[in-house]
Amino acid sequence: MPFSALGIIDHLRKALDQEGYTSPTPIQKEAIPVILDGNDLLACAQTGTGKTAAFALPVLQLLHQSRMHGEKRKIRCLVLTPTRELAIQIGESFTAYGRHTGLINTVIFGGVNQNPQTARLVQGVDILVATPGRLLDLIGQGHLHLRDIEYFVLDEADRMLDMGFIHDIRRVLAVLPKKRQSLFFSATMPPEIIKLSAAILHNPKEVMVTPVSSTVEIINQQILFVDRENKNSLLAHLLKERNIASALVFTRTKHGADKVARFLAHHNITAEAIHGNKSQNARQRALGNFKTRQTRVLVATDIAARGIDIDELEYVINIDLPNIPETYVHRIGRTGRAGNRGAAYSFCNAEEKAYLRDIEKLIARKIPVIEEHPFPMTNFDVEPPKPAASKKGNAGHNEPKPKQPQPHNPAETGTKRPGRKRRFFGKRS
Ligand code: AMP
Repeated sequence: MPFSALGIIDHLRKALDQEGYTSPTPIQKEAIPVILDGNDLLACAQTGTGKTAAFALPVLQLLHQSRMHGEKRKIRCLVLTPTRELAIQIGESFTAYGRHTGLINTVIFGGVNQNPQTARLVQGVDILVATPGRLLDLIGQGHLHLRDIEYFVLDEADRMLDMGFIHDIRRVLAVLPKKRQSLFFSATMPPEIIKLSAAILHNPKEVMVTPVSSTVEIINQQILFVDRENKNSLLAHLLKERNIASALVFTRTKHGADKVARFLAHHNITAEAIHGNKSQNARQRALGNFKTRQTRVLVATDIAARGIDIDELEYVINIDLPNIPETYVHRIGRTGRAGNRGAAYSFCNAEEKAYLRDIEKLIARKIPVIEEHPFPMTNFDVEPPKPAASKKGNAGHNEPKPKQPQPHNPAETGTKRPGRKRRFFGKRS
């Protein structure tokens, strides 16, 4: 099906040709007509499905068609997104798709000097892509208002809640016009997300594509069992032995990311780490070096990697298995984009076997194991030592503490606390 069948205008189709998009992805097929018809939208889709174009194209079209020539630009569309990286990428998408429409977007996010951002606002923009904190800051300082918003997009709503943005979202909602078209995107639909969507949307049409587990089908996944202390050596070995020219490597902690990057550098493998402790400039520089292949390995934590959009990323390597199975799917979804094949290697030590079981349950498949490698697991101590039979009231009190998996740190991983169940639209295949 061509984009013209969805009613996309020439100005946008020309840009899509230049981007090399020949046909819409499933979320685009479903969402674009609904949005062009003026409906609110509740969409369940994750990064990698083409969801950005699914909202950017119809919004650009509606703005373009109703724009009064000669009129001063006002902010008519707000896209709220959780991270700086996502904000930048969404801004780049609006620029690319809207290059023949004359519409102007700008991106605002925290952690950098606000002056260049306010200068752009003064010049006038049609579309604003923002993270919540900086948006509220600039509103508070009187640099912008949202009175003219006609289109409001809430992107990655589940991540927003995970990252504690609920109050900021409410504050933004309070200053948006009541009469507007709202588009709500979330990779998952737990009850709190449904509740939030009900507060934002009016008679929404619902669109659900590819339940999170089925996007992993085109990705070649493999597990390597290895002791914790040998993980870095195994990584260096894998990169060399498999001639991996470019890989995104995930660690659970910021400290871990730095350690891996240093280890690889010592082994003459160019590597940089990105995580929340790095400045925005350092993160963008590292991402740029990785995209241009000056750096072979980008080591990232989950939050920092959120929304990283690198075309043709072939390899994802999980140095640590995440304790939230959906995070695994988000991680490996960085590869295998837009129909490309991808490969994901995951290292698993004894303590992480329980995480592996949860992941395999979610994706409803066994991940094949690479048995042959130079650092096979020697510590099989999976189960914590059982406390000796003890008297009532003193159960295991003086026993050595069982080895625990690393504590979960939602601020760093951007994932939910263990034990909180997520509900998915659609069935898990
Ligand atoms: P997203 O889910 O918005 O992060 O998009 C994932 C990737 O798919 C991005 O690299 C887009 O450039 C790409 N993409 C989006 N729509 C299409 C399309 N219709 N055809 C080919 N690639 C696309």
